[in-house]
This record gives sequence, C-alpha cells and structure tokens, in this order.
Amino acid sequence: MRLVITGAAGFLASHLTDRFLEAGDEVIGIDNLLTGRMENLAHLEGHHGFRFIRHDVSAAFDIEGTVDGVLHFASAASPPDYQAHPIETLRVGSEGTRHGLELARQKGARFFLASTSEVYGDPQVNPQPETYWGHVNSIGPRSMYDEAKRFAEAMTMAYHRTHGVDTRIVRIFNTYGPRMRPQDGRVVSNFLVQALRGEPLTVYGDGSQTRSFCYVSDEVEGIYRLFNSDRTLPTNIGNPVEFTMLELAEAVLAETGSSSPIEYRALPGDDPKVRQPDITVAREILGWEPKVPLREGLARSIPYFRTAVA
Ligand code: UDP
Repeated sequence: MRLVITGAAGFLASHLTDRFLEAGDEVIGIDNLLTGRMENLAHLEGHHGFRFIRHDVSAAFDIEGTVDGVLHFASAASPPDYQAHPIETLRVGSEGTRHGLELARQKGARFFLASTSEVYGDPQVNPQPETYWGHVNSIGPRSMYDEAKRFAEAMTMAYHRTHGVDTRIVRIFNTYGPRMRPQDGRVVSNFLVQALRGEPLTVYGDGSQTRSFCYVSDEVEGIYRLFNSDRTLPTNIGNPVEFTMLELAEAVLAETGSSSPIEYRALPGDDPKVRQPDITVAREILGWEPKVPLREGLARSIPYFRTAVA
C-alpha cells in the first residue's frame, strides 16, 4: 500500500509510520512541525519506503500517483499545546480533515481519522462505550480540541454517507511512551521528567481524577488492526485499566526510584473527572486488547526520558 500519514512527525503517528513500513508499505509523511519533531523520524532518513513533506494540511494539498490510504493524525494533542494554538487546532480538525477526505475521495483511498476520548468530554458515564454521546463544553478551555475532533468525526461520516468514501474513526485514549515531547505538558511526561530530575511531581487538583493509560505499542497495534478492518463506526482504542493521578504519581516514583515529593496545583477548568475506554467492540471485531501494564510501560519509557532530560 501507498499511504499518506498527516502528523507523521508527532509522537503517535511516527510510531504508526514505523508499523506500516515494517509491514512493507510505503509512507508519505506530512507535518508542519508545529508540535511534531523531525527527530521522531530521524531513524527513517534514507529509508526507501518513506518520504517527508513539510506542509500544513489546513491548506489544500495534492499527492502525485496512487494513494491507498490517508491517515489524518495531524493536530496538537496535549492540553497546553492545543490551548496555545486554538485556531490552528480548530483548523486542522476541520479544514485539515476535509483536505484529507478530498484526497481520499479523489484517489479512491481509505480515510482514517485519529479522533479522541475527548469527544466524550467530562463523561457522565464510566467507562465510555462508543455509543455514548458525550458531555462537552463547546466554549470552554478544551473546546478547541474537543469540538475540532467532533467536527472531524461528523465530516468523516458525511463524506462516507454522501460520497461513499471508505472511512475509519479511532477514538484514542491517553497514550504514552518514547518520543513524547518531554515538555508537552501531559501528565505521564510531566511526572517522568519531574521524577528523573528530582523535582516535585505536580498533581493538579486533589489527584483523585482518573485516566486509563495505554502504552504506545499497544495503541499502534489497535490502530493498525482497525485500519485493516471493515469497521466504519468510531472505535475506542485504549487501555481500560483506570488509575487516579495520585496512583500514577506513586507508580512513577516507584519505577524511577525517585524521592521527589508531590506538589498540589490548581485543577485546570473542565478537566474530566474520570476516563476509561469500553473496548468491547475492539476486542470482538479486532481481536485486540492491550498487553503492556502501566508499570511495564513506564519502565520501557524511562530510558528515553532519561536521555531526553539529560
Ligand atoms: N495532570 C496532573 N499533573 C500534570 C499534568 C496533568 O495532575 O503535571 C492531570 C490533569 O489535570 C488531568 C490528567 O492529569 O486530570 C491527565 O492530563 P493530560 O494533560 O495528560 O491529558 P488529558 O487526559 O487531561 O487530556
């Protein structure tokens, strides 16, 4: 297959690029490097199956030759990043998605949207099945990301229903691992960096809010299987084991052997209180479930973060 992956220099899409290249596919990676980094692709320099194009997919683009799949992963994804770039985030979710869909339509390619657990907002149902419609503040501090992705899902379904484009939608839950930007502001990267530097771990609020953390190799495998499946409706891919942020802090301290103290900070507005994917669909349709437990995933991530903070 010849695939176009937007956001290819980002944490998750760079790993996904590797997965397709390992399978013998060809990848054209596109990124404007707003939050992506060329170092995530450095190991692919000279790889015959890979080509990089620096471009902002919020502006129209064309690709010469045949294309079998368009995978739209471009977007700021950590709350501090998308809050620093609200208009870029809304544009890449709206115009960027439409440009990817247009390319897929013209080429007769499959379109794959990277959506998010944030479409569920601050959920009133836990765990969240795909059938849950969500609880989202359309003007709040997370709205630029949540609404961009909700719009992207709607646009994807509209192209599917109106133009018959072959589409897939994954709802990605909190994912972590090597190649995350150490300063991207997310909780796993913050805690690991803080622990390795002997600085206080910053717990927002009282630390009782929960998230469910998926190691990147598990997330990529689920995404890869979903791309190759015939499931058109949105599908949750994430690890269903739920932790409080205090439990995460303790796991990070134990795995790093750090004696950093915990420091409490104000809870940001609209911070979801709970989050856990219901992965019944992924289990049944893809035969997929995560294999790497949190402590093991942290241990696998530490060497990368140790180098990154050195
Ligand atoms: N959080 C925290 N300390 C940090 C960064 C984040 O306690 O240094 C909390 C944050 O308030 C949220 C959870 O960790 O409840 C996950 O935050 P993250 O930004 O990783 O992703 P989110 O799931 O909120 O998009």
